[in-house]
Amino acid sequence: MVEAIATQIGVALIQAESFANLEDLNQQLEALDRTRSNLIAITGHELRTPLSTIQVCLESLASEPDMSPDLRQVMLNSALVDGERMRKLIQDFLTLSRLESGRVEWRFEPLPLWECVDLALSSLQTRRMTTNLPQIVTQLSTELPLVQVDGEWLVEVLTKLLDNACKFTDATGRVTIRAQRSGDTMLEVMISDTGRGIEENRLETVFDRFYQEEGALRRTTGGTGLGLAICRQIITNWGGKIWAESSGKDLGSEFHFTIPIVATGETKRTAQRKRT
Ligand code: ADP
Repeated sequence: MVEAIATQIGVALIQAESFANLEDLNQQLEALDRTRSNLIAITGHELRTPLSTIQVCLESLASEPDMSPDLRQVMLNSALVDGERMRKLIQDFLTLSRLESGRVEWRFEPLPLWECVDLALSSLQTRRMTTNLPQIVTQLSTELPLVQVDGEWLVEVLTKLLDNACKFTDATGRVTIRAQRSGDTMLEVMISDTGRGIEENRLETVFDRFYQEEGALRRTTGGTGLGLAICRQIITNWGGKIWAESSGKDLGSEFHFTIPIVATGETKRTAQRKRT
């Protein structure tokens, strides 16, 4: 009899706990749903802005056949710039969504960091061919261990951080890339600039989706506001950390991230495999 009551109490307790878990799950689902709705609203707003500009430009071009050639060119350029902004936004948005839903198949391999930095610098020079870039200094020791990452995605992270550093630093400034070991298993990469800096209360929010100091409407630098959110997803997926430091407005910024290095035994095996 006592045993039966104890069993019943046990079952009741388990049920109560499952209800509590169910309540938790419900709250989590509601929070997720709110995030999803917010995201759709923000994305819609971000897309509507360039789309409106394109529409106004095309309408003016269609309705004013006597428009001066100069004004016509301005309208066309404006529509092209905003079309490109929409393309980048959709591309970055899809990349972020693939990363967040775990639909990326990583291809990890041992790589020297300098190789990825070189590829990122070439990509940056192609992207910003028409801009005067600040001086870019690479300070990477030849003693650095190999990193165990997906090279293509590491190049993506480096390109985005370098692109930002150049975007927010004028041509007389400097961007520096450094790296050092962080404990036994990680490498810390640092990209610093002498540009406009970040205020202390923004050091975390810059990694939020669509965060841009100027706001979407007054933006002059042409980004999507998704670059750092993408970098954070990639780095945290690999077990690393990413953060920003700055001494304040106009005092430059420093972005740091950590990535796994190849275990010592693994380096030897890789070296042997390469020799054969
Ligand atoms: P964006 O496409 O606007 O560059 P990001 O997610 O890469 O989007 O960056 C978000 C915001 O963080 C930028 O719009 C800018 O306000 C700030 N930011 C990023 N990198 C730097 C930097 N090196 N110096 C100053 N501000 C920066």
